[in-house]
Amino acid sequence: MEFIDPELLAYCEYHTSEEDALLKKIVRETQAKVLMPRMISGHLQGKILELFVKMLRPNTILEIGTYTGYSGICMARGLAEGGKLITLDINDELETMVRGFFEESGLASQIDYRLGNALDIIPSLEGPFDLVFIDADKFNYSSYYDLVIDKMPSGGIVLADNVLWSGKVLPEGRKKLDKDTEAILDFNRKVHQDSRVENSILPIRDGILMARKL
Ligand code: SAH
Ligand code: CA
Repeated sequence: MEFIDPELLAYCEYHTSEEDALLKKIVRETQAKVLMPRMISGHLQGKILELFVKMLRPNTILEIGTYTGYSGICMARGLAEGGKLITLDINDELETMVRGFFEESGLASQIDYRLGNALDIIPSLEGPFDLVFIDADKFNYSSYYDLVIDKMPSGGIVLADNVLWSGKVLPEGRKKLDKDTEAILDFNRKVHQDSRVENSILPIRDGILMARKL
């Protein structure tokens, strides 16, 4: 489901700074070699993430769900000097490819890429995280939020991707309430009701929830 007119979306993409050769290559290789290439952030969302991070200049970013590294590289480009991106993924089949992309980005020394279940890894991370991008399995979004929120400073930002879940958050899309949809609904409600944060949902691509810790 597209949330805006496809022609307007194409217009937005056309008027978004071009992807560089590395990001184009990551898209190509993801489409050619990896399952579910639709999961990649892509041109528009990648640039938006990069611009957000350039506005925030965080010291530490935690990304939950690396996939093929596209969003991670976009975000790492906005880190403060000496800052780092910790990025987690459970899928070790992508490791060699992703490490190669991080090397090519010239930012590998600032990227701490860890393989394993984020639910196990996050408790071992000290923080503080200035920015957290939640983009792994939808079922655990609320758990990820609970695991990171106390490790974030006032002013810290949580971004969570796919919170409109192709429109399935709406009643008409909800005929079959699968587990992931239920989890997204619970997550959106939880953040909205959490008095520790102020938040909004950006209707970008599949929906990005933004919460700022008070
Ligand atoms: N952020 C990427 C896309 C992430 S796709 C981008 O925008 O380009 C979601 C990823 O979450 C997949 O690579 C999947 O392997 C990972 N994932 C799913 N469950 C996970 C878990 N429990 N711990 C860590 N990663 C997980
Ligand atoms: Ca996503």
